[in-house]
Amino acid sequence: MSTTVDVAVLGSGAAGLTAAIVAAEGGGEVGLYEKADQLGGTSAWSGGHVWVPDNPHMAAVGASDSPEQAFSYIMSLSRGLLEERLVQRYVEASPEMVRFLDAEAGTEFYAVADFPDYHPEHPGGLPGGGRTIECPLYPFVELGDWRELVTLSPYYPSPHFTMSETPLGRAVPWKVPRDERERRRTRDERGMGQALVGRLLRACLDRGIEPAVSHRARQLILEDGRVAGVRFDTPAGPREVRARRGVVLATGGFEWNEEYKRAFLRGPATHPVSVTTNTGDGLYMAMQAGAMLNNMREAWWTPVAELPSGLNDPMNRALIAGDRTRPRTIMVNREGRRFTNEAANYNAFGGAFHQEDVTRFEYANLPCWVVFDQEYVRRYGVLDVYRPGEGGPDWLTRGETLAELASALDLPAGALEATVSRWNEHVADGHDPDFARGESAFDRWWGDPDCKGQVNATLGPLDSPPFYALPVRSGMLGTKGGPRVDPDARVLDLDGEAIDGLYAAGNVMASPFGMTYGGGGGTLGPAMTFGYLAGRDLAH
Ligand SMILES: Cc1cc2nc3c(=O)[nH]c(=O)nc-3n(C[C@H](O)[C@H](O)[C@H](O)COP(=O)(O)OP(=O)(O)OC[C@H]3O[C@@H](n4cnc5c(N)ncnc54)[C@H](O)[C@@H]3O)c2cc1C
Repeated sequence: MSTTVDVAVLGSGAAGLTAAIVAAEGGGEVGLYEKADQLGGTSAWSGGHVWVPDNPHMAAVGASDSPEQAFSYIMSLSRGLLEERLVQRYVEASPEMVRFLDAEAGTEFYAVADFPDYHPEHPGGLPGGGRTIECPLYPFVELGDWRELVTLSPYYPSPHFTMSETPLGRAVPWKVPRDERERRRTRDERGMGQALVGRLLRACLDRGIEPAVSHRARQLILEDGRVAGVRFDTPAGPREVRARRGVVLATGGFEWNEEYKRAFLRGPATHPVSVTTNTGDGLYMAMQAGAMLNNMREAWWTPVAELPSGLNDPMNRALIAGDRTRPRTIMVNREGRRFTNEAANYNAFGGAFHQEDVTRFEYANLPCWVVFDQEYVRRYGVLDVYRPGEGGPDWLTRGETLAELASALDLPAGALEATVSRWNEHVADGHDPDFARGESAFDRWWGDPDCKGQVNATLGPLDSPPFYALPVRSGMLGTKGGPRVDPDARVLDLDGEAIDGLYAAGNVMASPFGMTYGGGGGTLGPAMTFGYLAGRDLAH
């Protein structure tokens, strides 16, 4: 079966949905094709934060910005890896993208108050936040039968909260009044990535774009030096779709493709937390079309806690962010030593997992554990899977004393006690001379919300037995290397020329951000902006 459309968009995450909405502006016919049997990709599992410098909503939370300030911030994180023209375009186009989606797709973005950038002390960084935006709850009843097709995250057990209502956003979901919670359930009002994807999907449907699921794009149709369409595998057999204007790759990263990870990534990356259909199909197609690649060794790194089977199925893993930042936690390696600022942003933290012990030819900080005490469990619970209270979950490694815990983890005798004793002395002094934990506004925001902005939001002693340990692994939200693009999201060939008819957006493309993660929403920001740019070029 062969169909012809004006624009074929591959992948239904935020990048693909945005590209499809904008591409339809010129009145052309847009086809949206998704490999999985559900829609939304990792974007639907995400917190739904979008990082947009100088966005139209930041004034409402008392923040201000300028394109120059944003540009200098991003470039301060470059390490010589960023292409200035892409950063420039991002800074110009991302607020435009927000204005467009608010006006045309009902996104209703608002700025999350006080959420600092991830390197707020860098030049142009905003310690007081304002660049991170999110959508309010979206009633999924408005999607009709399509709502069943949006994939639900294993990481956020209830979708009925916005990110700013979760502990991560400094509020607590269980404090939402009962009648309000009831209304949310009845209307199936969903927040975070669900609210974002739900709205973008509605905007597609309103434009007559009905996504086709279980369509795995396998091959681009190349004719006379241009991309003229796509071949799919579907449950009904092969299908060909021809695209008069072009094809947008929005197929996510290659984090579930072991061969590509071995070939390209800079270090161990054993625990992705994205949808498992992100196997690098877009990368394969781009390489086939002769694309130049860039940023291949990079990912949006994140520490991931390993959970026993039965928790957060089917992945049995959880992102660990606030939980390693709050007081009464430290992280130790197999030497029983701390090895970094535990409160550092999750992307930068990836570097700690890639550090080599050159003498032993081993990764210095893998395996590692987050270690905490009973008072921690009483105050904060464990991840989002064990509520605050007495006792501790039986799936944690536990010791009545530090020595007992160290022995259970097979750490060298005495090392853990020495580490904890040194840590407790730093806490008493109110600063961490070893790793500067608590010095950045970032560390103080992600710690205990009751001490927000103070150093004791993150510094606290481990002095209340029993003690617990949870294994932490090198994970990723997705990879961020792929075909190189120009400022209109057109894929470039080996000579830097645009490949006619081929665009890329989101984690499939070489990120304009190199190694960095600017702030909360730092992956969805560029994914949606380059989706917007691809759609705009294709619409006209
Ligand atoms: C728990 C969690 C929280 C997060 N929170 C945030 C946050 O708040 N802010 C932020 O910026 N980032 C966040 N992230 C990261 C963010 O979700 C991803 O970086 C982002 O969603 C990537 O968007 P995308 O459109 O490129 O890919 P995806 O959303 O993953 O979409 C790619 C889609 O392409 C489909 N696909 C793959 N191959 C093919 C093919 N051959 N044919 C057709 N379709 C194909 C996939 O099935 C998938 O549906 C979070 C991630 C996780 C896991």
